[in-house]
Amino acid sequence: MGRRIIAIALAAILLAPAGCSPSNEPVAVNRAALGTFVTIEAWGPDRGDVRDAIEAAFDEIADVEAELDAYREDSAVAAINSDPFGWHQLPASAVEILDATDRLEVQASFSSALKGVVALYDFDGPGHVPTDGELSAALIAAGLPQREDGRFRFPGLSSSTAMPGLDFGGAAKGLALDRARTKLRDSGAVTAALVTAGSTTVTVGSKPDGEPWRVGVEDPRQPDTVRLIAEWTGDAALSTSGDYQRYFERDGVRYHHILDPKTGRPAEDTRSLTVVGRFSGLDSDILSTALFVDGPEAAIEYARANGLGAFIVDSEGRTHLAPAPADSAVELTEQVGE
Ligand code: AMP
Ligand code: MG
Repeated sequence: MGRRIIAIALAAILLAPAGCSPSNEPVAVNRAALGTFVTIEAWGPDRGDVRDAIEAAFDEIADVEAELDAYREDSAVAAINSDPFGWHQLPASAVEILDATDRLEVQASFSSALKGVVALYDFDGPGHVPTDGELSAALIAAGLPQREDGRFRFPGLSSSTAMPGLDFGGAAKGLALDRARTKLRDSGAVTAALVTAGSTTVTVGSKPDGEPWRVGVEDPRQPDTVRLIAEWTGDAALSTSGDYQRYFERDGVRYHHILDPKTGRPAEDTRSLTVVGRFSGLDSDILSTALFVDGPEAAIEYARANGLGAFIVDSEGRTHLAPAPADSAVELTEQVGE
């Protein structure tokens, strides 16, 4: 799973300008977290204080994982999933994700209740192509989850024997990076920072050399080829969702991990989708997944209507670009292959 995601992170780092003077060098820490590698680069007058702030930021990320990681036995979400038809108090991070999904109006394409459906594909094992019967049972079980006063439960419909579960894999990284960014900002020690989990990157402040943040987005079929360069100064977020990050192939068909909640099948029209703008990491992470499902046309329309930049490589390898609005001062430059 991690290999391609790391390639995006490397693109982000390799694009940083070379030749910084020593005082402009960031403190950089790379660590396994959130099912991938997270890198924090941060600048500030006192490198020791910057280092402490980075440690505190990684602690925040670990706290989010302890709440949301459905695949960790001791997480709050794993506890809910082990008894999905009983009422449970949701951790604040889960409430934040569910509320953001509603606020962004992407409930039709983004669902945090797909664990039972995702599990059918056995992406982390040899891979399995679910039957129609398996898919419909899992979709019925996911049903319309109920929420009341911060509590949550699945409906427990007797017409399905499948077990539903919460899976925040489409949004947890964005939320965790936001928490890390807030910690860095509030430390008072950090004047500028980039936090990246590869598929999502957030920034705060501006680098001391005045250079913009530069993040490269790789080609979904050629990880060493950068297809888009995004540049900005100050606070922003960028997320990429791809059909190459978690998948298997069977009989020449690629079964990837971004599922249309309406059918339970991998979304068909997109290979990779990137959103970038002056929004939170959480919003960017939710939207890259949701707009991937919606397909290129609807994605470009959503980006235009909501003042975001978007870059899509569709299922035919064609590219689609919605430039970020001029007043956002986020520059997107498509890289044309040689
Ligand atoms: P991302 O890489 O952010 O696009 O997230 C993909 C992950 O989110 C998958 O590996 C699943 O765990 C989960 N997921 C898949 N499809 C959806 C969907 N339509 N809405 C929300 N989460 C999803
Ligand atoms: Mg996402």
